[in-house]
Amino acid sequence: MAGLAVDLVRAQRGGAAALAHRRADRLDALVDCARSRSAFYRRHYSGLAPGRVRPEQLPPVTKPELMARFDEWVGDPAVTRAVVEAFVADPARVGQPLLGRYLVCASSGTTGEPGLFVHDRSAMAVYRAFSVRADLMWLTAGDWVSLARRGFRWAAVVGTGGHFGGEAWMEHERRRSMWRRHTYRVFSVQQPLPALVEALEDFDPAIVTCYPSAAALLAEQQAAGRLHLRPAVFETGGESTTPAVRGLLDATWGRAVRDVYAASEFDPLAFGCDEGWLHVNSDWAVLEPVEADRTPTPRGATSSSVLLTNLANRVQPIIRYDLGDSVLERPDPCPCGSPLQAIRVAGRRDDLLAFRTSGSEQVVLVPLALASVMETTPGVRRSQLVRTGPDTLRLRLELLPGIDPETVWRQATGRLRDHLARHGLHGVQVERGTEPPEPGARSGKFHQVVGAPSRPPGSWGDG
Ligand SMILES: [Zn+2]
Repeated sequence: MAGLAVDLVRAQRGGAAALAHRRADRLDALVDCARSRSAFYRRHYSGLAPGRVRPEQLPPVTKPELMARFDEWVGDPAVTRAVVEAFVADPARVGQPLLGRYLVCASSGTTGEPGLFVHDRSAMAVYRAFSVRADLMWLTAGDWVSLARRGFRWAAVVGTGGHFGGEAWMEHERRRSMWRRHTYRVFSVQQPLPALVEALEDFDPAIVTCYPSAAALLAEQQAAGRLHLRPAVFETGGESTTPAVRGLLDATWGRAVRDVYAASEFDPLAFGCDEGWLHVNSDWAVLEPVEADRTPTPRGATSSSVLLTNLANRVQPIIRYDLGDSVLERPDPCPCGSPLQAIRVAGRRDDLLAFRTSGSEQVVLVPLALASVMETTPGVRRSQLVRTGPDTLRLRLELLPGIDPETVWRQATGRLRDHLARHGLHGVQVERGTEPPEPGARSGKFHQVVGAPSRPPGSWGDG
């Protein structure tokens, strides 16, 4: 860990050349390893000339393609799809090491396609070391005092119950020592807001990790005097932050608010700087903004998607993998002075849904919480929830084969109604969609929660 942290600092001090040098060496080693251990990549790269590898020589890969050939993709024969699926089917095993050595997370990500991700110990050591980079960028001496005063307590307000990255990582880290077990805590974003507020008040965290949509709801609670968070760091990630939400969070927690760009395939990918850019950990990750035909997007233009290469993880090689996010890369050096690739991520955001209870109280539902209710239903491959009226939600499901569809539908609608009821929304109807989940007509991007066409008045976001 110490060696990794020193190398992160050296790489950044060395500037663009030092970063590029590390990327090139690590890519060579990764491709070598992938070809020797993964039958999928051996075949995928069969036409590759020997010698130094350049990224553009490597044909891209997609999540559905890799998931369909999971057992050939993964470089450890003990890690089969059946083994990982059985592992994630048990919610009690969140954060436990698979086969004593791997972190597992499940995610549908930006494309809505289900994915299972396995990270080895070396990769986790790299991800862990990135905290040093974030600390150097974000924290002042005064922040350290503030962190120490509150015992470094860290609250992660995330989707729970489905082996999602945030919870899996926290639970994995909590198992590492008694100190972490006391200091790190997961708070389910699926719980009703008053219960979440009470739990956070009680914990009084120094660090908060939260989706921007949920953070906005917490900021409202803080303004109403029901919540008194004083975090030294308030990390937001998992969705894009809209300018309206960002303004609200800044007004509430000031410079503690920090963006993090995270993915189940590589976490954390990038940290936000004071200039409003996300700096990619570009000594360990290669992020290539691309057009729909996978040609490079010019810097300064918004890409159609982005190809990710994870240079840290060997067990399940992610090499030029279509992540699905639209990214804009800054063409010139960032004024903050960081030599790390500076990007902004666009359109990684589902709609917030606001409903009225029978007592006319407004309740806003966090999209990632709704999505995780669906994703954790056995037999659901992909789901989408569309608001079709003031009190109507239409559920679209794509089912896995082998499970009785009626059972899956009954469970999914039941769980959704339970979630609504827990938030006091007994009058919201759930319709069963006959059509499959589909991407948005305008953006072409897939969203799991869609507020259109009747966007609720007074809901958050800038549309
Ligand atoms: Zn910057």
